[in-house]
Amino acid sequence: MNVSESEIKKFADAAHGWWDADGEFRTLHQINPLRLDWIGAHVAVDGMRVLDIGCGGGLLAEALALRGAAVTGIDLAEKSLKVARLHALETGVKVEYRHVAAEALADEQPCSFDIVCCMEMLEHVPRPAEIVEAAGRLVRPGGWVFFSTINRNPKSFALAIVAAEYLLRLVPRGTHAYEAFIRPSELAAWCRAAGLDVVEFKGLEMRIPNLQPHLSDNVDVNYFLACRRAAASGA
Ligand code: SAH
Repeated sequence: MNVSESEIKKFADAAHGWWDADGEFRTLHQINPLRLDWIGAHVAVDGMRVLDIGCGGGLLAEALALRGAAVTGIDLAEKSLKVARLHALETGVKVEYRHVAAEALADEQPCSFDIVCCMEMLEHVPRPAEIVEAAGRLVRPGGWVFFSTINRNPKSFALAIVAAEYLLRLVPRGTHAYEAFIRPSELAAWCRAAGLDVVEFKGLEMRIPNLQPHLSDNVDVNYFLACRRAAASGA
């Protein structure tokens, strides 16, 4: 299977902290409104069927559901799904959480989502191109796919690993492996191979001194990619 057991264990071990806005996942909490607005700028999510691949504790999944989407969140860390389900119970937000691989879900129900999100996840799997391929099968023709990941170059090594993990301690040490980072050109090629048209790259920067994340056109380190599956011919 296209999964790293050590990566899944890392997230499962930290799962209790998913909703702690000041804890291990605080950066994800900080960027959540930004990515939500960025998705919303491309497509109105209200009433849409949305799949969140690698949903973790459900930060993005719940936020999308609050905006009126019918959201399914999938992850392979059972503990994270438990935390996500409990949190949704507490908040009363309706999200369906499933322990299933994206590739398996694509076999089971192809073309069944208007929007597929896969944020901060591709750099944690052995063969990310296969997740992109599955996303391309899961989304309906004309639907949207949103990715976020980290670029691979000396600057991203310095900022996303040395600074973020060791100097500033924004994320725990060992969160990321440099070799697993993905260049925008690589991601774009995988998308095209999956039948997805690249619509927009956007950078996510955190500047010193306040480290407040903001969107930019600089994709050197963290970045987002919006894609669209071509509409079926004759549709
Ligand atoms: N997308 C969420 C969580 C990102 S952390 C967010 O941005 O808020 C990465 C997540 O990917 C973790 O929850 C981890 O368990 C999950 N993951 C890693 N490998 C996976 C795989 N092969 N299939 C599904 N989820 C996976």
